[in-house]
Amino acid sequence: MLAPRAKLNFLIGDAVELVVMATAKLAGCGIGRSQDRVELQIDGVTVSGYIDGLFSDVEDLYVAEFKKMSPFAFKRVEAQGITDEWGYVSQVHAYMRALELDRTIFVVLDGQSGSLNERVIQFDPAIWNAMEARGRMILRSRADSLPSRAFEPQVAKNGKMELELRCRYCQYKHLCWPKAQEVMKGNRPVWYIEEEK
Ligand code: SF4
Repeated sequence: MLAPRAKLNFLIGDAVELVVMATAKLAGCGIGRSQDRVELQIDGVTVSGYIDGLFSDVEDLYVAEFKKMSPFAFKRVEAQGITDEWGYVSQVHAYMRALELDRTIFVVLDGQSGSLNERVIQFDPAIWNAMEARGRMILRSRADSLPSRAFEPQVAKNGKMELELRCRYCQYKHLCWPKAQEVMKGNRPVWYIEEEK
């Protein structure tokens, strides 16, 4: 189960996505199929997700993905492009694979200033092959031979071991890290997995 705070975060993200989609439509962009369910098969198992939309220009069709970001994260996108720190590159690779498309238009919104930044992510077979191989390994694993966790905790500035970004929003974190303790750090929750040194 995700915490209400995390659910609220996702809800705000959904609302922002609707506003950006509506604005893009008003501006005449070829955008549609919001929240369509897409599926792909790994070893006969169906993996599904919901795309934010599809964007078409005169010549091509793109997966469309929208994200609201903090000013800090937005600046990083401006400087470095879209990275997989939050799993965004992997996420859109699954969508592209499911839809047999080779490009995604990734739009980020600075939640404070309203600035937008758009990036095109090209499908990279090497990224998908690594994702598929890990998916197969997980599906073939057994209770007595579980695969290693995908992400490890990091040492926080205070010396504690802190769950990394993707684990914080993962609904399986309490199973994966049973000793993780939720603590408020400023105005955001973090999860520590050992006592302060
Ligand atoms: S908490 Fe979730 S994201 Fe993190 S390693 Fe475990 S399953 Fe993966």
